[in-house]
Amino acid sequence: MTTSPSSAPLAGKTALVTGSTSGIGLGIAKALAQAGANLVLNGFGDAAGALAQIEALGVRAAHHGADMSRPAEIEAMLAFAAQRFGAVDILVNNAGIQFVAPIEDFPAERWDAVIAINLSATFHAMRAALPAMRQRGWGRVINIASVHGVIASAGKSAYVAAKHGVIGLTKVAALETARTGITVNAICPGWVLTPLVQQQIDALAAREGLTVEAASVKLLGEKQPSAQFVTPAQIGALAVFLCSDAASEMRGAELKIDGGWTAQ
Ligand code: NAD
Repeated sequence: MTTSPSSAPLAGKTALVTGSTSGIGLGIAKALAQAGANLVLNGFGDAAGALAQIEALGVRAAHHGADMSRPAEIEAMLAFAAQRFGAVDILVNNAGIQFVAPIEDFPAERWDAVIAINLSATFHAMRAALPAMRQRGWGRVINIASVHGVIASAGKSAYVAAKHGVIGLTKVAALETARTGITVNAICPGWVLTPLVQQQIDALAAREGLTVEAASVKLLGEKQPSAQFVTPAQIGALAVFLCSDAASEMRGAELKIDGGWTAQ
């Protein structure tokens, strides 16, 4: 459904969503665009396809290819967004990667990459975006953490450390902006069927000689009581809510959307 940008709740706002060429980031970008926000997309892969999907919703959009492991490129992306759209009102730190191995076999280079992209990039993007939000007296920062920001799974040392770090960082930023119109919150999804999770399903299928379908049922069954995947659209709707006035006193929250995973 295409919403008329002029009457939409986020009309006139600009959102930057990192890692929005696929998966959850693209779902959030679509939801924010449907709510009327202009979009700065980021990420690798099919940028033109993602851009076309957002522009079809009737808003202005641009893509910046910053590598989120490089602080100078993150700063350049924020400058690009400000120059193109005037400001970044909504920052969604979503780009992330996964690597699964026991600690003793975990390549040090993979540890560094997971921490850089999943955790440090969130710091660098907030550091670059907050001054203009303070100047304008309004802002929304939404950090995509994970259930792995509040609990752990074996084999995911770097990811769990990074996501716990994202939640701590979210709380600090929320306190530092508590007397302003800027809010900072974290969303903690359970399993969402995206390329990042498809890789883990394919690995499970290969390891245990299962069909991809059986591996997907097993993956969900091990952790997610609903036995259903969360969808990018559901996470997008939660992000839109966090941008509303109704959410203006939600500060430093860690919002779980996980099919009951962390209720166990
Ligand atoms: P995905 O692989 O579909 O998308 C990741 C996005 O990040 C892509 O756009 C990719 O191009 C981009 N990206 C990767 N490395 C980058 C880099 N160095 N610089 C810039 N962009 C980069 O993954 P997803 O499942 O949609 O994950 C998105 C976020 O949601 C991640 O932070 C992930 O940890 C989190 N998450 C995912 C799940 C899940 O089940 N899929 C659950 C909880 C949290």
